[in-house]
Amino acid sequence: MPNKVAIAIGAHPDDIEFYMAGTLLMLKQAGYEVHYLNVASGNCGSAEYNAATTCSIRNTEARAAAKVLGAQFHPSVTDDLQILYNLDLLRALSAVIREVKPRIVLTHSPQDYMEDHTNTSRLAVTAAFTRGMPNFKSAPPRPTADYEVTLYHALPHGLCDQLRRRLVPGSYVNTASVHKTQLKALAAHKSQQHWLDVSQGLNSYLLAMEDMSLAVGRMSKKFKHAEGWRRHLHFGYCAPEADPLAQALGKNYLVNKAYERGLQRGR
Ligand SMILES: [Zn+2]
Repeated sequence: MPNKVAIAIGAHPDDIEFYMAGTLLMLKQAGYEVHYLNVASGNCGSAEYNAATTCSIRNTEARAAAKVLGAQFHPSVTDDLQILYNLDLLRALSAVIREVKPRIVLTHSPQDYMEDHTNTSRLAVTAAFTRGMPNFKSAPPRPTADYEVTLYHALPHGLCDQLRRRLVPGSYVNTASVHKTQLKALAAHKSQQHWLDVSQGLNSYLLAMEDMSLAVGRMSKKFKHAEGWRRHLHFGYCAPEADPLAQALGKNYLVNKAYERGLQRGR
């Protein structure tokens, strides 16, 4: 039997809630053990408090959000704007992957509006690649294991890449039934909500997530609220057609046939 374990790896506290938590909740309902890692602490997410205080506030909020999601919390490994593609962070993420042994990794889009997100995506991809390589040392050291993992990339902020091009997902997850819980998890990031509400108007924080899930739902032409995913190339990870989200979520998962046809044309 495949390991029914999934991990969401986001850059900052609240990124999982914005881009991935609906799917994580659906996987939890489908019997998956779910894990939650923000690579950075969120220490730059305040103009009011210093970095240490902000870090502490956001750690408490992220733990509360993970609890709402029913996910196991993993502590951040660096600070905001320090998510660089480097060996220290790769070893740290590799250790988390080796502890969790996920069948599914959810992470950011390789194209996104800021480098912390794109570098998180790259680090998550390579950390998963090292899961069975004993000659690559994780920090702290963790034993390797041989198993299949499939990686999925979330849609980027604003649904477009750094060059403003609209990105289309390869599949959709119906998140309507867990939408309220996703909002509750996002609302746990009270300091961010307060910051954006003051600067951008009442409830803009929660509405931004709401708008995104409705927009992706419209793209799906099937679901009211949805998250979109692009599956990572299988080499080094799993069987070519492995799509464990499809297996786990059944009718709440929709493959974008036009996207798949586009991939075939490219071959
Ligand atoms: Zn972020």
